[in-house]
Amino acid sequence: MPARAREASTLVTEKREFKAIKGTRDILPPDSALWNWFEQTARDVFETYGFRDIRTPVFEETELFARSIGVETDVVNKEMFTFSTGHDPDSTGESAPDRTYSLRPEATASVARAYIENEMQTLPGNAKLYYMGPMFRRERPQKGRYRQFYQIGAEVLGQSDAPAIDAEVLEMLVVFFKRVGLTRTTLYVNSIGCKDCRPQYVELLREKLREVKDQLGPDSQRRIETNPLRVLDSKLPQEQPIIAKLPRISDHLCAECREHFAKLNEELGLRGIVYEENWRLVRGLDYYTRTTFEVTAEGLGSQNAVCGGGRYDGLVELLGGPPTKGIGFAIGSDRAILSMQEGGKLPHLPGLAVFVAWMGQAAYPTAVNITRKLRTAGLAVELPAEEMKFKKSLGLADKLGASYALIIGEDEVASNTFTLKRLADSEQKKLSELELLEYLESERRGSR
Ligand code: ATP
Ligand code: MG
Repeated sequence: MPARAREASTLVTEKREFKAIKGTRDILPPDSALWNWFEQTARDVFETYGFRDIRTPVFEETELFARSIGVETDVVNKEMFTFSTGHDPDSTGESAPDRTYSLRPEATASVARAYIENEMQTLPGNAKLYYMGPMFRRERPQKGRYRQFYQIGAEVLGQSDAPAIDAEVLEMLVVFFKRVGLTRTTLYVNSIGCKDCRPQYVELLREKLREVKDQLGPDSQRRIETNPLRVLDSKLPQEQPIIAKLPRISDHLCAECREHFAKLNEELGLRGIVYEENWRLVRGLDYYTRTTFEVTAEGLGSQNAVCGGGRYDGLVELLGGPPTKGIGFAIGSDRAILSMQEGGKLPHLPGLAVFVAWMGQAAYPTAVNITRKLRTAGLAVELPAEEMKFKKSLGLADKLGASYALIIGEDEVASNTFTLKRLADSEQKKLSELELLEYLESERRGSR
């Protein structure tokens, strides 16, 4: 045990309770079933669009995030969980550098790193990848904001920056939200220009902001110098009339960016995607170029963004890879699921199908066998490990939410049959094993 861990465990000798660390939480049944269904639906939808799963580590070199997301962003500047390697027991070299690692605050940087490291540019077509998993940011925990939260994301990396790619990614997102029943949403789209036109706009914005500096709050004042675009994100009521008068990026895009954005609007129209243009949507990460977008949902208060994304054409090159175009998004699963729960439109997920109410040791072998057969047929079955009184058995079946109780007692063993009781209306049937299997299988198919 490392010295620090030993210290921590011996110092505390009094009895104590352990709790999940602030900003983290357990996702328990039955919520976890909703989560699994949400994630499985994403897999199903994304795979119909030709995306495939990528799994990257949850920690990377700090520098990967600093370079890609940007050192002046809130995410890198104040929200990362960073630790040093300390003594690496595997390192033999005397002068192994003491690198720092960070828990990933998002996964686009990791996907770009994996793309380069695995030379995915040599694969045919675009790399179309999706991921899901925990992300970590040291923020003030509140409703819809956690220190460990979950994202589902997708990325397209390759040689083309055709607006049709942006539109298809947005279509996939909209289809997914619709499939899970998250319908009270708004999609906002913007273009924030490229390395040719944005710097001039940022400079212009900075000049204009300096003129009104004393009317801004401390955060925005600081951002005038560090990251003036982020001022447009401000939600401070006093700053709103000032921001409304600032120059808009749409009036300062270069010809190519203007053309790209116009074509994107056309492509979205072709796909029947409803959205709103929002010139203030700049996003918090440095790597974005041109297309940016965000989806907000109802029922979440001020943490109402359930997805953010955009184009990041220079990112792979910035990380030492070949010239590559890219676009992607990340859905905040915690918030999306919260919004679904508040909206009350939840799917009916299959629970326990059968509770095996066996009575008398003579019935036990039959119970064990039929349980295995029902499970092989894909049914969720609960077999009590110890004998229970009939009434108690049915009571538990009911509390566990089983659809049926399968009664196996002396009579059933003697007549080689099963009694199946539907718990919703107490209807009972006497069935042979074959009839039982056929009946329950057809029920299962019907309920899907
Ligand atoms: P916000 O403005 O709410 O801080 P963000 O711009 O930092 O969001 P992104 O980096 O774009 O968020 O991440 C994409 C999505 O991930 C967000 O729209 C949100 O749904 C979710 N998300 C981000 N941070 C958190 C968090 N701390 N807790 C829960 N979900 C989060
Ligand atoms: Mg944030």
